[in-house]
Amino acid sequence: MATPTARTTTALGVPAVRPSDETKPLPLQMAPRRRGKPPKHFADLTPDERVASVVEMGEKPFRAKQLAAHYFTHFTSDPAEMTDLPKSTRDALATTMFPPLIRPTRRMEADGGTTVKTLWHLFDDAKVESVLMRYPNRTTLCVSSQAGCGMACPFCATGQLGLTRNLSTAEILEQVRAAFRSLDRGEIPGGPARLNNLVFMGMGEPLANYKAVIETVRALVAPAPQGLGMSARNITVSTVGLVPAMRRLTDEGIPVTLALSLHAPDDDLRSELVPINTRWSVDETLDTARRYFEVTGRRVSIEYALIKDMNDHAWRADLLGEKLNARGRGWVHVNPIPLNPTPGSIWTASERSVEDEFVARLRGHGIPTTIRDTRGSDIDGACGQLAAEEDDE
Ligand code: SAH
Repeated sequence: MATPTARTTTALGVPAVRPSDETKPLPLQMAPRRRGKPPKHFADLTPDERVASVVEMGEKPFRAKQLAAHYFTHFTSDPAEMTDLPKSTRDALATTMFPPLIRPTRRMEADGGTTVKTLWHLFDDAKVESVLMRYPNRTTLCVSSQAGCGMACPFCATGQLGLTRNLSTAEILEQVRAAFRSLDRGEIPGGPARLNNLVFMGMGEPLANYKAVIETVRALVAPAPQGLGMSARNITVSTVGLVPAMRRLTDEGIPVTLALSLHAPDDDLRSELVPINTRWSVDETLDTARRYFEVTGRRVSIEYALIKDMNDHAWRADLLGEKLNARGRGWVHVNPIPLNPTPGSIWTASERSVEDEFVARLRGHGIPTTIRDTRGSDIDGACGQLAAEEDDE
């Protein structure tokens, strides 16, 4: 059982959390350590701003559409590939509009090359990672929205790094473009394909970088050539539960899938596992998630990492089922995921039998429940572990 959490408030009004002695407490961090901004990139601009930028360079307005087609339809920013542009202007346009933002420094493969994790170095040597997963009938990319994370969840590798900085829209979109490109060019076994799904489940708290993330989403769903033409329902924004930002997302009118990282149904334990819970309680967060469903019609996903003897008790499954049902039926489903243990952590994944019981209890309450795929866990998929390792070197 978790020891109760004592709450204090820092000078900034940010609640500081004092978890039990077993875990090293980290303060919540709302402001990034680094403030330097990456260079402005074509993908940071709205379609109108793209036109204004090319005109500013002395080009015809329609060049903006040509560049957009290169970037979003052919997944290229290389002037040599832009053969429909006059050679004289290609280089100048590409150099100004497509400054290099992310550089792959490590690539790890699993599942016969159908799972690929890439470590990227950014312009200031901040590091992020993305994971591409190809299944028989779909492809999913997990992207990072921040370098590091300030949410301090003790079981998460990224949470231990603290927040370095927010990514820009283009830094996020460049991860996406790289995935589209390698699928399109047939670099992933199974023949050329398109990216179907995108999850903001890499490094960072997407709703703490709201503006860049929502602008990314706009470009993902915009039809070609101004965007990638993805379906909003195939985009998942995962959050620790930043209630005001969840409300803002609700009213955006873009029906992305919302995933809420709950991990405990009771405030005592959740405040330890997801420290932002000291600011917004389980009930407040679930009410906000329920409203997301009401307004968007999108069923909310509840993420629940099953941690041995920590949050995997049958009574907690019952309490979770009751709290979800108290807010109506059919609005939510639960994705338990066996904990992917992080280096140095004393926590491990729940026993298989305990996991089965947890799932059975939730289903007994009528809650649709599916164990989340743990693909890539052998390459420390999507939990900030690769970047953490690099920092130790
Ligand atoms: N900050 C966002 C998104 C990034 S994490 C969020 O917290 O939702 C994506 C998911 O992976 C979250 O549900 C997170 O709680 C979970 N996660 C983090 N570390 C994990 C680990 N070691 N094992 C299993 N799931 C983990």
